[in-house]
Amino acid sequence: MKEAARQARAESRIIGLVPTMGALHVGHLSLIERARRECSPVIASIFVNPKQFGPNEDFSKYPRTFESDSEKLQDAGVDFLFAPEPREIYPEGFATYVNVDGLEGRSRPGHFRGVTTVVMKLLEIVQPNFAYFGRKDAQQSRLITQMARDLNLDTEIVVCPPVREADGLALSSRNVYLNAEERKAAIVLYRALEATRSELAAGVRYALQLQAVLQRTLGAERRARVDYAEIVDAESFEPVVRVSKPCYVLLAVFIGKTRLIDNLYIEPKSPGSEDLVFHF
Ligand code: AMP
Repeated sequence: MKEAARQARAESRIIGLVPTMGALHVGHLSLIERARRECSPVIASIFVNPKQFGPNEDFSKYPRTFESDSEKLQDAGVDFLFAPEPREIYPEGFATYVNVDGLEGRSRPGHFRGVTTVVMKLLEIVQPNFAYFGRKDAQQSRLITQMARDLNLDTEIVVCPPVREADGLALSSRNVYLNAEERKAAIVLYRALEATRSELAAGVRYALQLQAVLQRTLGAERRARVDYAEIVDAESFEPVVRVSKPCYVLLAVFIGKTRLIDNLYIEPKSPGSEDLVFHF
């Protein structure tokens, strides 16, 4: 991979990298499409990163569909697929981690350290001009942008909007875990975001009031168990009292045993304005 990337750099080509964990869906393909508009070659990586899974999480049963993934990538016009083995990425004695201070996730300890470490390694191996990430994983995108800035990386981090099913459910590799009943129940995340948007559009600004709407909407679905449902500052990811700056409504909800995340990005129409723009 390093050799191929070095060659592309020597030819002054614009390299785009799209890191994934495989089990590819249209959300991943939207990142590749965007990369193809801006870069050549486009490199996709597939690596189910053991270091970002907790001890009781789904690392061993995470969906692995390598054959169909590589077909999808070929059809999407990807130039290189980088799919290393865990022992290549983490050889015996591996000891160096990248940690972004102050932005650690509360609900999955160690998860983001695993993410930033592997993304740093992928960025170092490929040294792309652009790397593409989904805003569906809002905190992840925020951390990677911070890491690239703090470590003077030559890669520009591009954050792309989430792709959703017709009923609003954000595409995720983990959606395959849902049975038919759970799949129906899973739209409660989108419903909760939509209910919050509606309150905000009606002029409600206090997080406590918005939180009540979230709890009420999510609480109405008996298959849903809330991990977190918060309104946070888009920079610090700290809970806000009032929505007046760019914010996220952040959701992590278990539907049965499957943990799903989603978010709504909110920003004032112009700095200081009470008019808001909503990004699902
Ligand atoms: P994953 O394979 O889940 O690690 O995701 C790989 C990349 O695809 C990450 O940057 C995700 O944020 C992004 N991604 C995941 N789901 C979606 C989606 N529904 N729409 C757009 N991008 C997504």
